[in-house]
Amino acid sequence: MSQTTQQKIDQWVMNTYARNAVTFVEGQGCQLTDEDGKTYLDFLAGIAVCNLGHAHPGVAQAICNQALKLTHVSNLFYTQPQARVAELLVKHSFADQVFFSNSGAEANEGALKLARLWGKEKLNGAFTVITMQGSFHGRTLATLAATGQVKIQKGYDPLLSEFRHVPFGDLAALEKVWDEKVCAVLMEPVLGEGGVLVPPPEFLAGVRALCDQRGALLIFDEIQTGLGRTGRLFAHEHFGVAPDVMTLAKALANGLPAGAILARKEASALFGAGAHASTFGAGPVVMAAATVVLETLTAPGFMAGVAQTGAYFHDRLLELADQHPQVVAGVRGLGLMLGLALKVPGAPLVKELLKMGYVVNCTQDTVLRFLPPLVVTQPEIDALIGVLGLVLAQPPAA
Ligand SMILES: *Cc1c(COP(=O)(O)O)cnc(C)c1O
Repeated sequence: MSQTTQQKIDQWVMNTYARNAVTFVEGQGCQLTDEDGKTYLDFLAGIAVCNLGHAHPGVAQAICNQALKLTHVSNLFYTQPQARVAELLVKHSFADQVFFSNSGAEANEGALKLARLWGKEKLNGAFTVITMQGSFHGRTLATLAATGQVKIQKGYDPLLSEFRHVPFGDLAALEKVWDEKVCAVLMEPVLGEGGVLVPPPEFLAGVRALCDQRGALLIFDEIQTGLGRTGRLFAHEHFGVAPDVMTLAKALANGLPAGAILARKEASALFGAGAHASTFGAGPVVMAAATVVLETLTAPGFMAGVAQTGAYFHDRLLELADQHPQVVAGVRGLGLMLGLALKVPGAPLVKELLKMGYVVNCTQDTVLRFLPPLVVTQPEIDALIGVLGLVLAQPPAA
């Protein structure tokens, strides 16, 4: 049976993913089950998407209720779930207004359009955006050009040329490429696909100060870092620095497609009627799910719990690093966005862990990345640490 599903997909779905030979059929919290009935512990959460865990009862109920009531009427009219999500996002962030999209790349596209309008209106037509080397901002033509990774761009040239990439964490380099053409800086507060890289403590404040001096927009891509992932609702809160514009997606509706651009009024006011749009954006079912997500994340004590679990996980990874210095280079990350940097390729370890029933990810070839549902428990972390210790003691060959 598993052959059949996998053969169909391999034959009839375009071959853009290097898939693992597992067909998942259901989940519950941090647990996944494949079609042979084998269970797994999920330390990836669909790449930081199912932050409340799989088959969350509150989210599922909200989706069902809303689907039986109203699914779509377009944004030519008002809908109640959209109002509630906008209210929650504004109430719990720096932002005054929100635009809803369906994905991360699409949110970044909208933010880049806003940056263009900002440059036209406030900076004599400036249109260049500074982004970071090693960053990831999406797969559309504009967002892959913004992305600071050649492997994502290969084959798609000529690229949009208004981006300048600087080393993450290097304020001097950023200042050096800055000229009168720059209208914005777009960056992840912590690089995700780039290898779970936390910037030097003063970096975000330095970028903020430069943007303020020169009147440019500071745009944080919190698509992966946002919505509780790092132990704060938004990662920039760790650094005491707020952006002018922020993009969200991944965890916003716990698995349904949702994205958002949040902005201060001075920027958001540049989007007038007709300036930007999305047919599916803020659909009532998606917004019903997002309401439960945001209400859960912002409930008293929830975020403190994530920070606590993250600190525990971080400590346990440090123990492994101490025990296996020949294969482990270091531990990094914030909250439940953690990376174990290896001195060996990570892919064979990921494969081995999957066989043993643990879903983890590897990024930048040598960084094991852990992005579990935020409801992961200490016993679940202990279980992973146990098998990880075994695998690190005898790393499988590539
Ligand atoms: C996943 C991701 C994106 C792209 O989101 P999609 O929904 O896949 O388009 C953009 N930026 C960051 C930081 C991401 O992690």
